Amino acid sequence: MNKEKVIVLLEKLKEFLKDKKAPVFNVVDFIDNPFKCLIYAILSTRTKDEVTLKVAKLLFDKVKNINDLINIDEKELENILKGVGFYRNKAKILKKLAYILKHDYNSKIPNNKDDLMKLPGVGNKVANVVLAYAFNKDAIAVDTHVHRISNRLGLVNTENPKETEKELYKVIPKKYWREINTLFVAFGQLICKPKKPKCNECPIREFCKYYRKKINANSYTT
Ligand code: SF4
Repeated sequence: MNKEKVIVLLEKLKEFLKDKKAPVFNVVDFIDNPFKCLIYAILSTRTKDEVTLKVAKLLFDKVKNINDLINIDEKELENILKGVGFYRNKAKILKKLAYILKHDYNSKIPNNKDDLMKLPGVGNKVANVVLAYAFNKDAIAVDTHVHRISNRLGLVNTENPKETEKELYKVIPKKYWREINTLFVAFGQLICKPKKPKCNECPIREFCKYYRKKINANSYTT
């Protein structure tokens, strides 16, 4: 797909989503500082946004900064995190993270990928979420929604999120990099679901490789 077509597709998607209610839109409003954004991104791995949001609200009522995270008892933290995937492990990670941020980073969240990636619990996706959402940097955060939808549309033809990220930098115009995660996650939550995508309600099906294949397969069998 050429870049002009990609722009039309993304603008159509933005228009479609602008008055819709997807869980991810609540998250974007909620993670309004780098500390919250980093912690939220770590908690959200392998967990639905609805659940992460609920747990994160409980957590941030009690833990408002790095010192609070250092001071909270690990068992109490575990109890708050119950519900998110691997909550015991994540409680350990957050305690370690707080200590490192305080002692090695002067209690500041790093704003560059190299330093972010050195932190416990931070992989490629989490680092890009923090760069894009907390620091307004041009990064594409690829999660399962972004990976799946990019492949269904035919924007990329890849096996894993890492490859998808690399390819998306080539096909998506830079001005959309930061927002692609929110757009595709919202779209994945509402329409292009992992199982049974709602292709008949899809505003961008004319661009979709998966849809074309489905139509061709149906016309072949009828
Ligand atoms: Fe997803 Fe279907 Fe839309 Fe393609 S047509 S983007 S598979 S919902």
